[in-house]
Amino acid sequence: MTAATTRLAQANRGTQTEGRSPEELRELVSHVGAELELAPAEHIIEWAVATFGERFCITSSMGDAALAHLASTVAPGIDVVFLDTGYHFAETIDTRNAVQATLPVNLVTIAPEQSVAEQDAAHGKDLYKTDPDLCCKLRKVAPLTESLASYDAWATGLRRAETHNRVIAPVVGWDARKGKVKVSPLARWSDDQVERYIKDNGVLVNPLVYDGYPSIGCFPCTRRVAPGDDPRSGRWAGTTKTECGIH
Ligand code: SF4
Repeated sequence: MTAATTRLAQANRGTQTEGRSPEELRELVSHVGAELELAPAEHIIEWAVATFGERFCITSSMGDAALAHLASTVAPGIDVVFLDTGYHFAETIDTRNAVQATLPVNLVTIAPEQSVAEQDAAHGKDLYKTDPDLCCKLRKVAPLTESLASYDAWATGLRRAETHNRVIAPVVGWDARKGKVKVSPLARWSDDQVERYIKDNGVLVNPLVYDGYPSIGCFPCTRRVAPGDDPRSGRWAGTTKTECGIH
């Protein structure tokens, strides 16, 4: 850990297994985001682990395991939360299983309250066609929000290079909707940096990435994209929807 991140972590360290109030968390991050803006990704994770302890987790959609791998080198045994929407490609579930089998992390799989069949019965078949925002709310936003109740801070693999909508993602910021600290250690990473990290470290990658799916979500809402196109243009293609509401 660098002197700067050590100082920040020491200044912020509390009883790491106890939760802080939203006010405390918001105050804590009000100055840290700028101080860590230029820090390497591993130092950002070190700071989060030192500051939040067991109340810090990372999330992964299993497009690749770069963030999970990096976090496992900083904090072996760290919680990696995977949201199983019930609509994942088989390759995504296989990648989740491979991460669980090969990385020193605690894989936590969470699921929506209703199965796909139960949702079909309650809201009509294929809600993703008739009301994708409600479908995402029920199958993504609600279960993730619920699972984050036992954490003060969560990390995502969000990168500013992915889409224009993500340009402003801070490395450490306040997630007002969830009342949590949101950490994006890879926010400043370019596509090349991700590729290099994956290659140098033999990181697991969802095979769909090499089959025309640079951004992978639920199978009904994810299409192949042409080489050179916006990587996220295959998500909810043909609609104005660009995000699921998690971010
Ligand atoms: S991405 Fe599609 S299938 Fe998945 S939760 Fe959202 S609307 Fe439903």
